[in-house]
Order: sequence, then structure tokens, then C-alpha cells
Amino acid sequence: MKYKILTFICVILALAGALGSYFVLTSPEKTRVNIISDGKLVRTIDLSNHSDEQFDIRYRGRTNTIEVKDGKIRVKEADCRDHTCVKTGWLRSSAMPIVCLPNHLVIEFAGEEGGVDALAW
Ligand SMILES: [Zn+2]
Repeated sequence: MKYKILTFICVILALAGALGSYFVLTSPEKTRVNIISDGKLVRTIDLSNHSDEQFDIRYRGRTNTIEVKDGKIRVKEADCRDHTCVKTGWLRSSAMPIVCLPNHLVIEFAGEEGGVDALAW
């Protein structure tokens, strides 16, 4: 009888562990995106529930045109010098945010460690 209870507890713990790791493993499938301009969060977009849109983010007279389309986000146009942000293309991974250094713009998936606070301009 005692062993049965122990087995039961073990099974519950194993299930809880499996469930916990399941959530940890599946949560990186992120859809929430932070748009940070000059170290400030200016917009949060949920790509899974967002209609196609295009908008401008301005910084000191310079502009980045952001495009949201088919649940993806990218910098479509920019008047920065290097155009790295445009060349980066669609935001794919939280490990690789879209960054426009000249215009102090970052587009990244939300919910990662670091985030806004990690940006020290
Ligand atoms: Zn740029």
C-alpha cells in the first residue's frame, strides 16, 4: 500500500515535470514582438493576432518603415546609413533581433531575458 502511494506520487511528479518542461520548451514559439526606439518600448505587437500593417518609427528625423505581414515583421525601408535592419529581413528568432544602430531601433520577440533593460545606448 505504501509503495503504491509512493509510485503514485512519483508518477504525479514525473507528469508535472514533463508538463513543466513542455511549457518551457513550447513557450519560445513566440509571437509577441517588442519595438524599441531609443531604449524605450514604443509598441508591442502580437503577430499571431495582427492584421497586416505598415507604420513608421521615427528617431531624430530619421525613419524606419516597419511592415507586419502574414504574422511576420520586418523593417521594410529605412533611411539609415547601413540598411542592416532592412537586410536582416523578417524577424525569425529571438536570438537575432532586428537592429538599426543608427536609428536606435530594435525589434525583438518579447519575453526573453534581457529585453529592454539589456539595451544600454
Ligand atoms: Zn537601419
